[in-house]
Amino acid sequence: MAKQYDPYENMLSILDSAAAKLGHSKDDNDYVGIRVPERALIVSIPVLMDNGKIQIFEGYRVQHSSTRGPCKGGVRFHPDANLNEVKALAAWMTIKCAVANIPYGGAKGGVKVDPSKLSEGELMRLTKRYTAQILPIIGPERDIAAPDVNTSGKNMAWMMDAYSMMKGYAVPAIVTGKPLELGGSLGRPKATGKGATITLLNYLKKTGQNPVGMTVAVQGFGNVGSAGAELMHAQGFKVVAVSDYNTIIYKKDGIDVNAAIAFAENHGHTILGYEEPGSKTISADEFWGLNVDVLFPAAMENQINEKNVNTIKAKVILEGANGPTTVEADKILAQKGTVVLPDVLTNAGGVVVSYFEWVQNLESFMWEEDEVNRNLNKIMTKAFDEVWGIHKEFNVPFRMAAYMLALRRIIKAKSLRSIFP
Ligand code: GLU
Repeated sequence: MAKQYDPYENMLSILDSAAAKLGHSKDDNDYVGIRVPERALIVSIPVLMDNGKIQIFEGYRVQHSSTRGPCKGGVRFHPDANLNEVKALAAWMTIKCAVANIPYGGAKGGVKVDPSKLSEGELMRLTKRYTAQILPIIGPERDIAAPDVNTSGKNMAWMMDAYSMMKGYAVPAIVTGKPLELGGSLGRPKATGKGATITLLNYLKKTGQNPVGMTVAVQGFGNVGSAGAELMHAQGFKVVAVSDYNTIIYKKDGIDVNAAIAFAENHGHTILGYEEPGSKTISADEFWGLNVDVLFPAAMENQINEKNVNTIKAKVILEGANGPTTVEADKILAQKGTVVLPDVLTNAGGVVVSYFEWVQNLESFMWEEDEVNRNLNKIMTKAFDEVWGIHKEFNVPFRMAAYMLALRRIIKAKSLRSIFP
């Protein structure tokens, strides 16, 4: 039987080890509260379907921590969404925001649904009613949503509308990742891919390696994978493989990433059927075993696991997705000497620019794109340098170093606030 992953237990095992390295036991007053989410809500979402029947969907919003600021995190629509996964994703947001040192806690939302089976109208009613169901716990000073797997600016516009209608006035700061026309930020759509590219470049610079000509394999060609591939390609990396849920394309001399992106845009957001001279399709086993410099998982959780970890030849794993590597696989990678640049650092670019978007909304003042990108670069580079410092000081892998950095900040904030009441 296939191994069942418990995402929250996995998250906790790393958190507890990081706490132990900082000298905190599980029941320490300063740490014990970080092991559990502050609040978790399960909602039933009735949606009037196009056939006139009402269908009930299950949704979640978990607020893991508000210690360092309002809770922040995306909403995903996926048939496998469940409370335990959303709890883990919310905790990862707490860690990620603390690594980047932006003044947020962590949250996440999810709806158990396959959005490809819903019409546009059904999707809109689902998004708006989900917003209404979680309304008692969200707000621009409490908990701010954003896109995640299978959601985009379109869903954020609907969430903003639902929230604003119920308040009676426009509240753009309730969500980030909105369309520009509604107060979205320049630079937000590509921010996660950009942040990942910045992290990779920072790592290569620190270790004295030249990115030009380095080979990259990208798993997932959604927002994170495609933007990351585009920016790496522009920096001189050779993207030799790209994949999505339908197909995997390989080309030894490097794929024309911009052409692949244009193809996907015109073919229902998939690269299925994309070809160029010298390209071929390969199997998943061949993909994981590619002899590349960098593997960029940018799809879902647990993609690198004990089934494929031993075949991985990449020297660096750049985690664009949240939780793409299982705890067991992570240990094996460490033994093999594979460098893992962890999700909570690598993919923080999205929430960092979400933070800029929220600040712009609260001030009603829009920034130029170069200001967004300059500040993104500054925050990502500072976070990388701090993680690097702990990695060296404690001789721990980057994931552990990132968790330790985050925990130091969260524990300090908790002790300054002290316990209520
Ligand atoms: N969903 C993204 C993440 O997992 C962005 C979250 C946000 O911008 O709030 O980091």
